[in-house]
Amino acid sequence: MELFDSHCHLDPMRYGDDLGGVIERARASGVVGMTVIGTRAIDSEAAAELAAREPGILNAAGIHPNDVHEADPDEWDRIERLVSAGRAAAVGETGLDWYRDSAPREVQREFFDRHIRLAQRFGLPLVVHTRESIRDVLDTLREALARGPLTAVLHAFTGSLTEAAEALDLGFHLGFAGMTTFRSAEDLRTVAAAIPLERVLVETDSPFLSPEPLRGRRNEPANLIHTARCLAIGRGISLEAFAAATTANARRVFLQR
Ligand SMILES: [Zn+2]
Repeated sequence: MELFDSHCHLDPMRYGDDLGGVIERARASGVVGMTVIGTRAIDSEAAAELAAREPGILNAAGIHPNDVHEADPDEWDRIERLVSAGRAAAVGETGLDWYRDSAPREVQREFFDRHIRLAQRFGLPLVVHTRESIRDVLDTLREALARGPLTAVLHAFTGSLTEAAEALDLGFHLGFAGMTTFRSAEDLRTVAAAIPLERVLVETDSPFLSPEPLRGRRNEPANLIHTARCLAIGRGISLEAFAAATTANARRVFLQR
C-alpha cells in the first residue's frame, strides 16, 4: 500500500531530534510521499533542505495567513528566492483565515495575492488554507483563474457539498485531514465521499489535527492511515484502492505530471 501525505509540517523546530524517527515511522506505515509545507521563510527553507536530501519528500514555500503581519520584506524575498531557484514543488501555505484573525484582513489579502501570482508565474500548485473564509477564497481564486491557469489544493477541507462543488468546478483538489475521522464529522464524511476520487487528497497536517483514535496527541505522517481508512470506508472501497488513487493524485498535482 502506498500513501501520500499531501500536507505536513516536518522540521527540526517542531520535531527536534525525533524528525528522523518521524520519517522512518511514516515509511514503515506505507507513506511513500509527503509534501512538507512552509508557514514562514525559516521552515520553508528547512523543508527545501529536507526535500533535497530525503527521497519521496516534496516541499512548498510560503507564509501562513496567520503569520503574514509578522513577515518583513526580506522574509517574502526568501520565499520568492526558493521558488525562483526551483527549490519548491508548490507555493504555500497561503489563504485567508477569518476565524483566528491574528493578522489584519487586508494584509492576509495582500499576501494571498502575492502567493497566487508567484504560483502562476512559475506554474506551481498553490496550497490554500481557508477558515470561515471560503466565499472570499473562491472568489479570489476565480479572479486569478481569469488571468491564467492555476492549480490549487484546498487543504484540510471542511466546507459544504455546494462549496466543494464550486471548488471542483474551478478544477481544484480537496485535501482531507484528521477531523474527517471525528465522531461528530458525519457531514464532512458525506462531503468527502461525494467528491470524485481523482480530486481527493489525504493529509495529516502534522503536527496538528491528529485523527481518531490519537486525537489530542502530536500528529505525524505515520498516522495518515487512520484518516485514509476512514475515507475509504466512507466510499465503500478498499484502503489499498483509496491509497493508490490519492497517491497518484498527489503526484499529479505536486510533480506536475
Ligand atoms: Zn498546514
